[in-house]
Amino acid sequence: MANSELDPAVRVRFCPSPTGNPHVGLVRTALFNWAFARHHGGTLVFRIEDTDAARDSEDSYNQLLDAMRWLGFDWDEGPEIGGPHAPYRQSQRMEIYADVAARLKAAGHAYDCYCSTEELDARREAARAAGKPSGYDGHCRALTADQVEVYRQEGRQPIVRFKMPDHPLTFDDLVRGPVSFDPKDVPDYGIVRASGAPLYTLVNPVDDALMEITHVLRGEDLLSSTPRQIALYAALAEIGVGNGTTPRFGHLPYVMGEGNKKLSKRDPQASLNLYRERGFLPEGLLNYLALLGWSLSADDDHFSMDQLVAAFDIADVNANPARFDLKKCEAINARHVRELAPEEFVRRLVPYLQAPGLLPAEPTAEQLELLAAVAPLTQERMVVLSEIVPMAGFLFVDPAAFAVDPDDAAKVLTADARPVLEASIEALEALGDFTPEPIQAVLREALVDGLGIKPKFAFTPLRVAVTGRRISPPLFESMELLGRPETLRRLRAALELVPAS
Ligand code: GLU
Ligand code: ZN
Repeated sequence: MANSELDPAVRVRFCPSPTGNPHVGLVRTALFNWAFARHHGGTLVFRIEDTDAARDSEDSYNQLLDAMRWLGFDWDEGPEIGGPHAPYRQSQRMEIYADVAARLKAAGHAYDCYCSTEELDARREAARAAGKPSGYDGHCRALTADQVEVYRQEGRQPIVRFKMPDHPLTFDDLVRGPVSFDPKDVPDYGIVRASGAPLYTLVNPVDDALMEITHVLRGEDLLSSTPRQIALYAALAEIGVGNGTTPRFGHLPYVMGEGNKKLSKRDPQASLNLYRERGFLPEGLLNYLALLGWSLSADDDHFSMDQLVAAFDIADVNANPARFDLKKCEAINARHVRELAPEEFVRRLVPYLQAPGLLPAEPTAEQLELLAAVAPLTQERMVVLSEIVPMAGFLFVDPAAFAVDPDDAAKVLTADARPVLEASIEALEALGDFTPEPIQAVLREALVDGLGIKPKFAFTPLRVAVTGRRISPPLFESMELLGRPETLRRLRAALELVPAS
């Protein structure tokens, strides 16, 4: 990293709302903020935007924290570690927002709006019909005390609206360059509900100001709220909330899913849990997600998180929509899987064998040895870690529960398989040293030389009998790992499945 890029004053935030399950769009936002903070030697603030009691949940909050840890993101201020601007859960900051809203009103930057939804709708329709801007028309900007009294007598509960300035709002987006909004497109907007509950539109900029955020990197879907927030920062600076600086904004490109539609957080393909369950490595998934808008270099789409951090520059992020390509994501993950050191690979496989109950919560030394022995036979051909189950589950399954795949059995364990199985059993019973080379030698002799079967076909029934499937790690190694008694037991059991000729 060039020294000039170190800037400890950089303060960015990752501020999800705890609704639903974490999704890949959220992960990419977290990744870019984290990489930006680490690249500059700055601070990553993790803030929970849980002011919407109807939609937020504790379960979702816990999932977010768990996801951040699994992904390997560390934060400098936030839940569980605290910091100078604590608390970092907005649900615990309600007095702050009420106070700021009152001060904005007192300073003339915000006002009570008594309009009912019906009135707003009717005026919007009328404006539209007349070809005029259809946003809020400023009706309550300057009510007289008498008008207010009348509304109160009618029992109306006001919302609080922020008064937008009349000049264009311009900013230099870190990703897209200069952006400008016409005031007629950005009408006065609500910041506090009639119930008194503060809205995202208020709490997000207030906390950015109080937490002294310098850069806001977030999805393009929030671009339209940026002019409103910029106006609000100016007002906050005026009333002395925060240190008076407006953050720089960078809006990350849309992610497109199937059929070139925007990937939605409800899309099953977007769920982070799905990738974890399938056994993506965090570094593989993050490598791929970084490519949704960024690349290390034109000809290399494979990199480590250290490389990403060293090279990450928000100015290199591409503003064009990025396409989510699952095949590419898998290919990149497979490469990260192949790169794992053997012991690390084994360590990461364990939970995927525990999930279906093939390993206990505390595996024995013997079980771990077996896993270490079979792992190298699978690593090269594995895309996601859960594949260890079909590839090597046959070694860990309780012998009483072992069953061959019914489809494979129907195809392979036909009457023709009987002599193959019988000859193999005989040969393996007589074999001295039960290791891959001698196993292969006696089986070849018995099946290829003895029965005249082509090598291509000779071993398939054995593979199904012993591993349960036609596709498995190398057969002779598998037999060795399984041991002679269990190998023979499975071959005999397969014989029972073969129809009499
Ligand atoms: N809580 C907001 C969200 O989840 C954050 C928006 C922002 O980054 O400003 O969309
Ligand atoms: Zn109004």
